[in-house]
Amino acid sequence: MPFNTKFIFVTGGVLSSLGKGLAAASIGALLESRGLSVTLQKLDPYINVDPGTMNPFQHGEVFVTDDGSETDLDLGHYERFTNAKLGADNNFTTGKIYYSVITKERRGDYLGGTVQVIPHITDEIKRSIQLAADGVDVVIVEIGGTIGDIESLPFLEAIRQFKTDVGKENVLYIHLTLVPYIATAGEVKTKPTQHSVKELRSIGIQPDILLCRTDRFLSKEIKAKIALFCNVGIDAVITAKDVKCIYECPLLFHKEGLDDKIVELLHIWTRAPRLEAWEEVVQKFMAPKYSVTIAIVGKYVDLTESYKSLNEALYHGGIANDCRVNLTFLDSEKVTPGACAPLLEKADGILVPGGFGSRGIEGKICAATYAREKKVPFFGICLGMQIAVIEFARSAAGLENANSSEFDEKTPYPVIYLMTEWYDEKTATVQKRSASSEKGASMRLGAYPCRVKENSLAFAAYGKTDISERHRHRYEFNNVFQAQLEAHGLVVSGVSPRGDLVEIIEIKDHPWFLGCQFHPEFKSRPMVPHPLFRDFIQAALAYAGKK
Ligand code: GLN
Repeated sequence: MPFNTKFIFVTGGVLSSLGKGLAAASIGALLESRGLSVTLQKLDPYINVDPGTMNPFQHGEVFVTDDGSETDLDLGHYERFTNAKLGADNNFTTGKIYYSVITKERRGDYLGGTVQVIPHITDEIKRSIQLAADGVDVVIVEIGGTIGDIESLPFLEAIRQFKTDVGKENVLYIHLTLVPYIATAGEVKTKPTQHSVKELRSIGIQPDILLCRTDRFLSKEIKAKIALFCNVGIDAVITAKDVKCIYECPLLFHKEGLDDKIVELLHIWTRAPRLEAWEEVVQKFMAPKYSVTIAIVGKYVDLTESYKSLNEALYHGGIANDCRVNLTFLDSEKVTPGACAPLLEKADGILVPGGFGSRGIEGKICAATYAREKKVPFFGICLGMQIAVIEFARSAAGLENANSSEFDEKTPYPVIYLMTEWYDEKTATVQKRSASSEKGASMRLGAYPCRVKENSLAFAAYGKTDISERHRHRYEFNNVFQAQLEAHGLVVSGVSPRGDLVEIIEIKDHPWFLGCQFHPEFKSRPMVPHPLFRDFIQAALAYAGKK
């Protein structure tokens, strides 16, 4: 029997980093495995309109969706765990909400009234939640931040009101808290959870289900205590135990009865979940036959959250090859010509990821030289491809001091440069930009088509000529140098449909050396590893002599 769209709100208490995003994604995976259609949405309490301009050190990776939205990294989890197609309507920030209310106010939409947090901001939040709901069975909305923060109050007020608006049978509140084990007392403590729920109830939200993050399974007694103090059923207290592999989360939650409880409380009748594919992923991840070490030469090496999708895509490549992927992060500023060999000799594959700004560029170039000369598998992504082109121009084609005009405006050979005019496939218009164009507006963002040339590593990976991948960059390969670089052994193996934008490069006489202007990591999934990551790991295995 058809039912109204259901809404699940996921909040977090006690402290951040408890894994709210993964919990929301896992709920999505479980509901999909029961045959329901889902979408997910993140509401972030900060004032930036989107995370595009934020420092990855502060906020972690910026995840890019097909429609070119720059979003919170939790959307990456959502896409990896479910089949939901996400875009601009799946991530709202306080800034985006206020921006839209203020724009309406200026337009005169409020007819001379006083514009206030309640109801104008809260109405705008509720409208944004409804935007994501189109045509799906269940919308899972994650509220960023921690209960008790001032910033998230309008969001919480909006989701409180939401239940009255759409009917109580259509809304569920799930709260994630911490149940720490205190070694000196020899027991787990429920007080932080009690306090967090008390805080939530003081703003009018009674959680229906509690996810308790802990390092051990909670006993019946502990669950009973939490249930009593927090006013939920004992079967609504779910252990969210630490896991070795994030893809175990849906399985663990299922064993704890989470999806049964959700469908019961939302009055949805579904088939039993099919979780075989998840079991297979976890089993392959936990007990692989082989192992390789991949060196990632980048800038944000201390905060691996900055490379979330990249790390996951590499693990997926491992799953496809029955192989554990050990990641070593190398600070590109430390990779100097003298230090290159000792730092990189243990690597079975070298990867230079995306990035902005000139810091550490020469180290990345050194790593590319090492990979090219020593025939170590090399994968350059976005900035990494640009690095590979600069390196090749300098070392193989003799273009001394070749560079990207991003790093050296006066370089005699700007092999990577700011294309001032280009045909945009997405909008089917000619786009113009200059060095002074507004930062946010001048990027090539989101999905663009690419034509792969046959007889290439790229074609061997994708097995087809027409592909689409996601972009986030300003600078491009400079076609003026294409013939000259090709004459020395560079292969342009992927271009835009009109042929004017170079999307993939390779080099001859190397087992696996590939750079792409796009970010393939955004589209890799545990069950469908991205072909380029699969083949890169396979090449690394071959290099290590293990296959
Ligand atoms: N800084 C480069 C550019 O803007 C690369 C960007 C990236 O790696 N995402 O083109």
